[in-house]
Amino acid sequence: MPRFIHYLAALIALVAPAMGAIPSPEQYFGFRMGTDRKLARYDKIVQYFQLIAEQSGRVRFHNLGPTTQNHPFALLEISSENNLKNIDHLKELERKLYFQGGPPSDAERDEIFRSGKAVVLITNNIHSTEIGSSQMVVELVYQLATTGSPRIHKILDNVVFLLVPSLNPDGQMLVTDWYNKNVGTPFEPSPLPTLFHPYVGHDNNRDMYLFSQRESRMTAGILWDSATANGLGWFPSIWLDEHQQGSTGPRIFTMPATDPINPNVDTLIYRLNTIYGQQQAAALEAEGKEGIIFNSTYTNFWEGAMAWAGWWHNEVGLLTEVASARVATPVVQQKADPSHPAAPASGAPADFENERRRAFEHPDEPLPPPRDITPRTEYPHPWLGGTWRLRDIVDYELIATYALLEAAADSRDTLLHEIYSVNQRTIEEGAKGTI
Ligand SMILES: [Zn+2]
Repeated sequence: MPRFIHYLAALIALVAPAMGAIPSPEQYFGFRMGTDRKLARYDKIVQYFQLIAEQSGRVRFHNLGPTTQNHPFALLEISSENNLKNIDHLKELERKLYFQGGPPSDAERDEIFRSGKAVVLITNNIHSTEIGSSQMVVELVYQLATTGSPRIHKILDNVVFLLVPSLNPDGQMLVTDWYNKNVGTPFEPSPLPTLFHPYVGHDNNRDMYLFSQRESRMTAGILWDSATANGLGWFPSIWLDEHQQGSTGPRIFTMPATDPINPNVDTLIYRLNTIYGQQQAAALEAEGKEGIIFNSTYTNFWEGAMAWAGWWHNEVGLLTEVASARVATPVVQQKADPSHPAAPASGAPADFENERRRAFEHPDEPLPPPRDITPRTEYPHPWLGGTWRLRDIVDYELIATYALLEAAADSRDTLLHEIYSVNQRTIEEGAKGTI
């Protein structure tokens, strides 16, 4: 055997068990994530993640459940193999960064800056019909577990990534089952006839001041309270909650949100919201994506929503809102004529439910053209209409998610220093009674 073939065979033997052990999403689910009219169901997504966690030293799987309807509530810890071996120490440093158990000593502070990681929580799919992110994370986790690119290594070395694939697993399965039952029939675009959370429906994202639901309490545990999260509480410095909005307007919203700001949130948090949100927007622009907006629709004041709730704890809380398909059915929208804007630009949110009703009553009719087509600072490249698919949602979310993880990796040192400063200031001002 020629020597190079010998080497090749040895190399394949070395790599094959690791590469072959984790099937790709296409192999495991039988279709590419985001394929028209195809959905991966939460229970199978969880099985896939458990398989990856068994095979990969970069992924750990935890079940914080049960959910309201007795299903698993998955939390994944994703980082380099070395970091995961050292995970308890890294968690201790992160909680110390947030002055848990008292202020860090000078030596502890220096150790945080030297060895701490950027801890990033990403939550998905709290609104179950906004299903794209529950599909996106399947590709994301597979790539993070199996890819050896410098970019992935940079992320894994510098970030501890906490992933909640769905904040409402029960609803993800209700929506998937209803859609699969009706796909290919005249009822394909029909909305789910029940609430997608048994007690609070869409208002599961209005519960972060009351914590009345199990899913809210489990999320609060990851964020702030190790005891209620079976010891898995982290106090992440950055938190992104991924949503979808209506189908007729911008393709994605990234931070910052609109005025007013809330005087009880430290101003640094608004600055960091802008920096990380705009890193996401810039990555989407670099990929040639259109319809990216900020300073629109969502306010900087309200405190009931998931992603906002971290602000009062000096955590950077981010939101993305991607335009919706009809669950997994493509949406066709008439093209706007930029030389004849149809109506004044509107900053109002698209009426999701009216769109859904219209889609059901007139499934073959294209949606009216977008009205907001004026290029400007927060919306330099407006969406002008066309076809929009579940795969577009997955693509936009993958770009935005990687952009955040990479920005966190690149800014690890700065982030730790700035979060330490703001936490120290908060404690001092609290002791003086000035806040
Ligand atoms: Zn939503």
